[in-house]
Amino acid sequence: MTVVVKLGTSLVAGPRGSVRHAVLKRRASEIAGIVRGGESVAVVSSGAIALGLPQLGLDRRPRSVPKLQAASALGQGKLHRAWETALAREGVAAGQVLLTAADIAERATYVNARHALQAIFDVGAVPVVNENDATATDEITFGDNDTLAAQVAILVRARLLVLLTEVEGVYTRSPGTTGAELVSDGGGAEVVFGSSSRLGRGGMESKVLAARMAAAAGIPTVIAGGEGDSVLEPILAGERRGTHFRGSDRELSAYKLWLRFGKSPKGRLHLDAGAKRAVAVDGRSLLAVGVVRTEGRFEAGDAVELVGPNGAAFASGIAAASPAAIASRVRGLEAMHRDRLVLY
Ligand code: GLU
Repeated sequence: MTVVVKLGTSLVAGPRGSVRHAVLKRRASEIAGIVRGGESVAVVSSGAIALGLPQLGLDRRPRSVPKLQAASALGQGKLHRAWETALAREGVAAGQVLLTAADIAERATYVNARHALQAIFDVGAVPVVNENDATATDEITFGDNDTLAAQVAILVRARLLVLLTEVEGVYTRSPGTTGAELVSDGGGAEVVFGSSSRLGRGGMESKVLAARMAAAAGIPTVIAGGEGDSVLEPILAGERRGTHFRGSDRELSAYKLWLRFGKSPKGRLHLDAGAKRAVAVDGRSLLAVGVVRTEGRFEAGDAVELVGPNGAAFASGIAAASPAAIASRVRGLEAMHRDRLVLY
């Protein structure tokens, strides 16, 4: 079984591009304990940008995306070295894995990434994952690796995702203000999202969204404070800490999980009532005759959402034909094969 642990920038980077070695040391020691106990652990670590800022002569995040990318490139080596050193002290090797959303969206690179992670687990090592910020900017603009961590958890079919941060979990309002209470069950949480910190990006909103995504994929998720001496051990032992999101019971194949959570839709197909029933109830493929309207620019092979007559999206999948071909509504033409769609 596999556990994915994500550390946000504020836990990893201190002032002026320093590494919070004490935090890494504590987490590395717990991670080594879990690995010795026979489980695999993947770390998703932010902090490259914050650690790279001094090399750009900056003490706060620049606005310019290329500068953020440069900071990440300058800081990533330092970030990985810090993890490598902390884990090596515990006798565990670290493997650097840099991923982008495009790697997740492409089926071939997605499967490659899974094989690579599995091979790292097989030798008892710990992959330390970050976004490849030089070519992708998803986590720079929103998320501080929260979505990436959920994607990795889905990719390796983790039994648990732990999102560690500076605060103890999700609060009913900004932590520290009067009346702020820790939400222990994230399922129905009414959450007030705080703003992002000075060095990292993300805040609670992206954590909750990532937790909901992993939970919908069947992976229980915990958002908790990551600074203390003992953090992962009690969480893995089932102690109530931080905010919990229960994993849904739905069983989806690895391919359908990727389809549902890895591949972003490029357009939508609006279906008539009969076509919706055929797909959603009878489990049949979608024929072009049932599509009343297409929306967006996509090609055969891209993901699109299926929308019912009430305007609500109820599935997504891989389009089997172009918008023009689908709009021709040629009899017998398949717009989407039933094996290449997933119902919401
Ligand atoms: N991948 C980025 C990093 O490791 C995300 C964090 C951010 O946007 O500051 O630094």
